Amino acid sequence: MRYSPKHIKSKQIWVEIIKPEKAMSACKPRSSKAPLSLWHCCLGHISEETIQNMAKEGVITGMEVEGPGSGNCSTCLKGKQTWSNIPHVTEEQSTKVLSRVFSDLCGPMETLTTEGHHYFITFTNDYSHYTHIGFCKHKDDTLTMFKIFKACAEKETGKSLKILCTDGGGEYSSNAFNSFLAKNGIKQETTNPYTPQENGVSKC
Ligand SMILES: [Zn+2]
Repeated sequence: MRYSPKHIKSKQIWVEIIKPEKAMSACKPRSSKAPLSLWHCCLGHISEETIQNMAKEGVITGMEVEGPGSGNCSTCLKGKQTWSNIPHVTEEQSTKVLSRVFSDLCGPMETLTTEGHHYFITFTNDYSHYTHIGFCKHKDDTLTMFKIFKACAEKETGKSLKILCTDGGGEYSSNAFNSFLAKNGIKQETTNPYTPQENGVSKC
């Protein structure tokens, strides 16, 4: 079947009928030439060796690779980085009662206690792992709960609390909390951001 080029007007649409040979040449894919590093990014960071093999064997029509690869893609390097294991306990466990106490505030809980408590707070002795739990209605009660725990624990053991270890949450870093710690000579240690494992003694 042979067609000769002509234009047919059909309402608003112009249709051009062309010879089949011309249509084939119009569909012929153009070659794409790019540096190896760019192909590496475009193809989902597959290895540069694989890309070179693909180009060599003509797996992708029109694919042309320019120059050697750097083998130094920052995205790949970041993706391959790993974390060292984070210990769930302190490297040096306390040898005396109350020398270090871990604390964490949990909540708000969906179900309240019958007295209307939304939160609970833990105080864990690093030496014995004895844990005291208190219930609070508001986050602001953290300091009051700490004062009660400190008074009871010191009276019971005859020792002084020296270090309070927390995740650095806002309830432990208010001005009132910091001034109470300073006034009583208590040092506050905080874990690194986004590493709840470091406060593993307190985390439920
Ligand atoms: Zn990469």
